[in-house]
Parts: sequence; structure tokens; C-alpha cells
Amino acid sequence: MSNRTGYCITTWRLRLRCRHPQWLFLTQELFNQIELFYYDLFLEHEELWEENSQEILRKLEVLSLPGREKRIPENPLPWKLPPYFRRAAANAGIAAAKSRLRKGKFSHINRAEKLHSAMVFYKRMYKNFSQKEITLKLWDGSRWQWMRCRLYGKDFPEGGERMSPSVVFDRNFIMLHVPVKETTGDASSVRLRIREGRNICGLQFAGGDIACVGSVFDKDGKEVGVRFFRGGNGYSHRCRMVLERVEKSCKSMGGGGEEGQNRKYWIRLGHLTDSYAHEVSSEIVRFCQERDVSVIAIAKEKREGKDRIARKNGSGDCYANEGVGKSGVLERLHAEWRIREFLRYKAWKAGIVVIELSLEHMDDVCALCGSELAKTRETSGEFVCGMGHHGNRYLNAARKLAKNCKIQFGK
Ligand SMILES: [Zn+2]
Repeated sequence: MSNRTGYCITTWRLRLRCRHPQWLFLTQELFNQIELFYYDLFLEHEELWEENSQEILRKLEVLSLPGREKRIPENPLPWKLPPYFRRAAANAGIAAAKSRLRKGKFSHINRAEKLHSAMVFYKRMYKNFSQKEITLKLWDGSRWQWMRCRLYGKDFPEGGERMSPSVVFDRNFIMLHVPVKETTGDASSVRLRIREGRNICGLQFAGGDIACVGSVFDKDGKEVGVRFFRGGNGYSHRCRMVLERVEKSCKSMGGGGEEGQNRKYWIRLGHLTDSYAHEVSSEIVRFCQERDVSVIAIAKEKREGKDRIARKNGSGDCYANEGVGKSGVLERLHAEWRIREFLRYKAWKAGIVVIELSLEHMDDVCALCGSELAKTRETSGEFVCGMGHHGNRYLNAARKLAKNCKIQFGK
């Protein structure tokens, strides 16, 4: 057993209550104005685009703040602000601009008019931070003041390191999001784990009632466990009930579907997906702990699916109009995306590493003998290979993942 340690970061969401919520709104507004100022400044200076974040911040400060000996900056920032507030807003602006640049060529037509990033509180912008309260430095419209806020929510994990919190305006509540950094006992590299002969679980996402299939191999290449993680049908059924309501509401609005109108259904779908993904990911980790698994190998994520879901989630569109909900594809992809996310941190906490492998050409050979699959029956999900092996094709893929992981990292 190696004693190298690693860490994972999870976000704790606490409800925040305070005497002057309007100060939070005013500070948020100011934060987004500063964010936009640095967003524009960064985009105007193409020579900074390839620099690292620290260097960008430093150079933007030179451009916008008076220096020693009363040097006049090129683009003076029109506000006088606490340095840690300004820096947090500038970093948010830089991040927004970078994401803009990643999406395609920047021009003044597609520049953001307004930014909405949640305000992050760096040190010196908060104090007396505990499970039950936090005191924030806020702009009340005319000056900076400290305000004590009460916090409600589940306890922080023991020994976890709290990082810069941010205030997030939810639909009905004000929330404090706190990233918590936890160290895990065993973070030896995948290569080391496999060289030590530890167990590998190949995990393949499936369809229908099966969320995914796991197959565990020991150091001698012997299969020591198989599990089908089910519940997909129940989940799809619950989603469909919500989607039917959406369809009805779309029809009653003449197919238009206004922003906000379907929002409550979206939120309900989100909750359904999260609870299903939590169930499945916890079950996978339990199974892997029982089988002494040290590495979980999954197939690389399909990007297009994720982008599509992100886009759908961001819009207030009439969800049912596209018909994707009816086929269940979108729900399944969405659930898979969440399961991956939850699995990664739950496994990590349990000292298990999750690794992504490319699944190209893994789908069409038999995991047991390596010969080509003669046929796969889409409907039954069965495969038959040239040597007469047959079984579930997702199980075949899970076995291939475990085996390939060992081949790739066991050298
Ligand atoms: Zn075979």
C-alpha cells in the first residue's frame, strides 16, 4: 500500500440568512460591473490571451491601477475597492472572457453586455466563518460594512479545508457555496496500483433498465465479480411523468413555451436525476469496496451529449417539443453525466481512482477471446462471438475496459 495522499474538492451548499439582503444584491451588482470591466480589458489585449492566470491578473492591474510614484494607468478603474474584492471580480471576468474565447473567435458583436458570475469572497472579505455563521464585507450603496449572516445546512466534513465561499442567489433562497478540500488516504497513481496487482473494475454505461455494468478482474486476469446496476426504467418512468406535464403545458401555450413557465418541471427533473445518480454511484462504490477494487476504468465521455444537455438546461425552451424526452435518450445521457460526476468524488473519497479510457474498437471484439463479434442484437443487448461466447454486450465492454486498463498501465 502506498502512502501518497491526494485531495478532492466538493461544494457544500448552505442557506444564508441576514438582516440586510439588499446589501448582498448591491455588492453582487458592483461585483459584476468590475467583472465586466476586466472582461473587456482582457479581450482588448490580445497579447495577454495566452498568458497564465496570475500573469494576466498582474498585467491587468498595471493597466488599470495607479502605481508607485503616481503613475497614471492606461485604463483607470473608475472605482476604489478593497483589493481582495477587486481581485475576485477580475478573476471572474478573466474566466468569463477565456470561456468566450474557447467558444470561438471573439468579435465586438458577441461580447457579453452583462455578466452574472456569483461573487466570490476571498480572505479579508469575510471573517468569523463557522458552521453556523459568517461575517461578510459588503457594499451598502455608500460604504463597505461588515454583516453577520446565519448559515443552515449539513455539517462540513471533519478535517476538510474550507476554500473561498461564494454567494449564490437561488430562486427562493440566498445560498452560500463553500468548496471543501478533503485529503484522501490513498492517491497512488493508476500505474502503481496496477503494478501492485490490485483489482480493476471495468464499468460500462448501458441503456434501458441497466444504468451500467461492472466487471472486476484480479491481478491474474480472473473475473472476480460482475454487477448490473439497475433502476433505469423506474427513473425513465418518473421523468416521463414530468415530461408529459411539460408537453401539456406547451400545448396550452400554443407550442411557444415561455421562459420560466416550465422551470419548475426542469427543477423537478434535475432532482429526479440527482437522486437516481446518487443511488447508482453509491451502489457502485459499495460494490467496488466489497471487491477490493483500487481502479475503476470507464469509457471516455461523449462530449456532444454533454454540450447538448448543458444547452437545453440553460434555455427555457419547450423541452417536449423536440421529442428527445420521449425516446428517453436525453434523460439517460443526463443521468450518465451526473453518475460520472458523483462517482468520481465518491470513489476518490473511498481511495479508489476513476480513469477514463477510449472505447474505440473495444465494442466489437469479444473480451474473453479477442475474436470479432459475429453479431449484436440491439434489442436484447446480447452479443455472440466467433468462438461461441455470448452474453450482454455492455458486460463485454466492461470486461474490455478492465482488461485494456491493465494492458495500458500495467507495463
Ligand atoms: Zn469470444
